[in-house]
Amino acid sequence: MEIKKHGITVTVLGSGTCVPSLQRSSCAVLMQIGTTRLLFDSGPGTMRRLLEAKTTIFDLDYILYSHFHPDHSAELVPLIFATKYPDGNRRQVPLTIIGGRGLTDFFAGLKAVYGKWIELSDGLLKFIELDNKSKDSRNFDNFAIESAPVEHNPESIAYRITSADDSSVVYSGDTDFSENLIELAKDADLLICESALPDSMQVKGHLTPSMAGEIASRAGVKKLVLTHFYPNCEDVDIMQECRKTYRGPLLLAEDLMKIKVIG
Ligand SMILES: [Zn+2]
Ligand SMILES: [Zn+2]
Repeated sequence: MEIKKHGITVTVLGSGTCVPSLQRSSCAVLMQIGTTRLLFDSGPGTMRRLLEAKTTIFDLDYILYSHFHPDHSAELVPLIFATKYPDGNRRQVPLTIIGGRGLTDFFAGLKAVYGKWIELSDGLLKFIELDNKSKDSRNFDNFAIESAPVEHNPESIAYRITSADDSSVVYSGDTDFSENLIELAKDADLLICESALPDSMQVKGHLTPSMAGEIASRAGVKKLVLTHFYPNCEDVDIMQECRKTYRGPLLLAEDLMKIKVIG
């Protein structure tokens, strides 16, 4: 008998950047594996986009940070503070926060500012630091995480999530061209890759559409989604630029875009 696969459901919550935009919220992606929900990054506006995706902050089991730039992390403080609001719906199960080496120092810095306003009762807030110098991995009940350092900040890591039924999604976070990302994304069912600026405006620490395409081609991913679009991207044919280097299935992220990934 064939076992029905559920795979991973990906919802893009924010396809934008630090630049305020009504169309593109700051960086955040939701992944659902069975009843487990993983949030990748939490830029400003993430909680509202979560509600639009029919998800509350209490539904989240894990938050995984690619790095700590404010457009990827700033909603963490209001999210924990809102968890303390005594409306009877308060969090019953732990929230695990995962990031590259430096995560606990980052949170200690936030606590130096906000103190008990961002403390939760015993055992409800957990932290896992992954290596920022080489590959790392962790296994959970119904999925596994692999990570690798990428070219952006010292703490920057990209993630590969593999569900128990063998579907795989890779989340690049912010990065410049990265051999580690190619290796991490090898044969993945989906690569969610930053493509911050058009080919003609390449900057250090970020990718362009044709660079992201080259990474996807060399990794042999089955589908590519480009995201993290600065406003300059809106006037350019991003898809055509990516097509210079990549011929496979391709999507340009929009907020609340939903992608079902079954490997
Ligand atoms: Zn960044
Ligand atoms: Zn960014």
